[in-house]
Amino acid sequence: MTVPHLALNDGHSIPQLGFGVFLVDPDETEGIVSDALAAGYRHIDTAAIYRNETGVGRAIAASGIPRDELFITTKLWIDHQAGSLPLTAIDESLEKLGLEQVDLYLSHWPAPERGTFVNAWERMVEIRDAGKARSIGVSNHLPEHLTALIDVTGVVPAVNQIELHPAYQQRDVVEYSARHDIRIEAWGPLGQGKYPLFEEAPVTAAAAAHGKTPAQVVIRWHLQNGTIVFPKSNRPARMQENFDVFDFALTDAEMAAITALERGQRVSGHPLEVN
Ligand code: NAD
Repeated sequence: MTVPHLALNDGHSIPQLGFGVFLVDPDETEGIVSDALAAGYRHIDTAAIYRNETGVGRAIAASGIPRDELFITTKLWIDHQAGSLPLTAIDESLEKLGLEQVDLYLSHWPAPERGTFVNAWERMVEIRDAGKARSIGVSNHLPEHLTALIDVTGVVPAVNQIELHPAYQQRDVVEYSARHDIRIEAWGPLGQGKYPLFEEAPVTAAAAAHGKTPAQVVIRWHLQNGTIVFPKSNRPARMQENFDVFDFALTDAEMAAITALERGQRVSGHPLEVN
């Protein structure tokens, strides 16, 4: 199964489907990421705050998969935005991951009350220039935060990773990002299982029409929208199910019906409130 790669604004590319490890127990991470790699995933999304980078690194090392076939993302936590802290934070993440370079380093939240997210971005540009991150981007940044970064540094983030699922699509952020050639990554792409997304009529109807599961339909909706997505599951059968999404396509009408599920329903923190 070949996962499509999308071009980033810095000349690099990213596999559009990956595997996320938020809330994966650090003690179980090596085994779970090994299962994901065995299922075919080559793009892993972790973060310093998940405290499971060591397990991700062990799974990578044990896999024997050539480094250039993997795409590894980690994130700078908000406690490490100030001063030169980002420079030590990336070194700690690389050490835990057992890597010399991550493929993508993200500033995790703007945490605007701290007033340090622009500094974090300036240091991340240095991290990229030092070769410790091939691409750099942000997460949970609203247009006002993106504008501040771009105005100060002239460096446009390669991606913005935001909460995005059918009931919460953040169209203002998506449209701003499209205008600036910033790729959107969806976190919580399945709504984190916090509302009955898989029982919504447009999702179940498309699943029945294509002989696929509701989860596969929602992942397909993201992919056809051009969104990068990395659903999480601890279960090998679901990992395989979530990866098996390249043998069908939703019709324009099915896409539109799922898009119409937007109702401003967030399942987790708001960028202005995480500080
Ligand atoms: P998700 O939407 O991927 O939901 C995960 C949950 O969905 C699983 O725990 C499981 O209960 C369920 N699930 C998965 N596959 C299923 C299937 N085939 N059938 C039925 N249920 C299924 O939520 P997530 O893990 O929060 O988001 C994905 C990734 O995004 C994370 O692992 C992490 O890498 C990233 N993330 C980033 C941020 C951020 O602030 N940048 C925040 C949250 C998550």
